[in-house]
Amino acid sequence: MGLYNFLTLQFGKLIVKVLQLLHKGAGNLPGLILLGINKNILGYFKVDCPIIAVTGTNGKTSVTNFVNHLFEQSGKNVITNKLGNNLDTGIVSLFLKLCSPTGKIHADYLVLEIDESHVPVIFKKLKLETLIVLNFFRDQLDRNGEVETLILKVKSFLETFQGNVILNADDPNVARLGQANPENKNVKYFSVEKYKYATDKIHEVGEGKFCPVCGEALEYEYYQYSHIGRFKCPKCGFGDNEIYLKVENVDLENRHFTVDGREYNINNQSIYYVYNMAAVCAAAKLYNIDGDILRDTLDTFEVNNGRMEKFSIGKSNAVINLAKNPVGANMTIRVMNETGCEKELMFVLNDNLADGYDVSWIWDINFEVFKDVTRVITSGRRAYDIAIRIKTSGYDPSKIEVYPDLDEAVENLFSTDGEKFIIANYTSVQPTRMAVINYIEKNQREK
Ligand SMILES: [Zn+2]
Repeated sequence: MGLYNFLTLQFGKLIVKVLQLLHKGAGNLPGLILLGINKNILGYFKVDCPIIAVTGTNGKTSVTNFVNHLFEQSGKNVITNKLGNNLDTGIVSLFLKLCSPTGKIHADYLVLEIDESHVPVIFKKLKLETLIVLNFFRDQLDRNGEVETLILKVKSFLETFQGNVILNADDPNVARLGQANPENKNVKYFSVEKYKYATDKIHEVGEGKFCPVCGEALEYEYYQYSHIGRFKCPKCGFGDNEIYLKVENVDLENRHFTVDGREYNINNQSIYYVYNMAAVCAAAKLYNIDGDILRDTLDTFEVNNGRMEKFSIGKSNAVINLAKNPVGANMTIRVMNETGCEKELMFVLNDNLADGYDVSWIWDINFEVFKDVTRVITSGRRAYDIAIRIKTSGYDPSKIEVYPDLDEAVENLFSTDGEKFIIANYTSVQPTRMAVINYIEKNQREK
């Protein structure tokens, strides 16, 4: 390491220290500053341990947290970006916080959530051992451009990659990456067996209608959700992959499934979550994680960051789920419909920088399929936009209430008993969680 790099590192560590003294999270800022000064800085950290990266549109944070938990429970010392600072700036910040003065990172494993577009950027500089790819959906178009561009970025990285690649076999956008480097013998696919609510026709907007290899229309045996399902190209046979890990006997009502003949309880009732857990199981299999540790993790571990997070208050149950795109929102609506009883929905929509200023994606959400939704509350900076969108779907406008103020919205949501679902987009999910937690605490104090 040259003197210049050494000094840059010390400067970066100083920024982190100052931010910590000011009680500000390191987040992206130190990385942003350092990359501005020295764009090669990522390459000067000394990382000797294996790196496992998780990427894809939806589910990265959850899968990263679960894989991290598996290793920790196995007694390993793991470094992870738990809170999802998943760009190169976030990774540099994380390393600055934890490295020695010479840039050495001490850990048994690094488990990192990485934004799809940053996979090639980051792993040009760091040696990756395993890449897990979950799915590709339209998301935050402002920043990422078309889905296709994004897939091609990851694909170009994989063309020369020799390490482990764990792919979702049921997403054609992901499965195609298995052909990026025919020389790589370490490509492994996970899949989830057809579940009770799988459909013959696609119900949500999806990508991947055509074979990425030859352009022929793909034939689907069934759709699990969005464009995820059992597909095959009638012309070239694309989609016929050997499955490394298969989740079978999915029972969402009783919350369990089997893998390799062993039954696992899970914490959640959505098929989307089952796919995340399939990726976790595949990682566990690859790294020979003890079966009991895997079982306990799937049974009891919860991420609690607004990803299908559950709250109880009096005679109400609420589930908060982050939705950054139509697929995420449609997933929550699907879970709502699969819950037989009456329920209420609160939708919190912001349009801050990290959300993308364009909220037109809400027009791709399937509010038309609402079942037994007795009331809708909207909130956030674009509370009126989402209210109008829901009204346009044919939902009774007299049952829609708009409260731009979040605390007021939460208070009104819990003014009735029963099942509540809350959908919140990227920058609104943490404020919404806090508003719910504050409401619950205030209510308990008053009792
Ligand atoms: Zn084909």
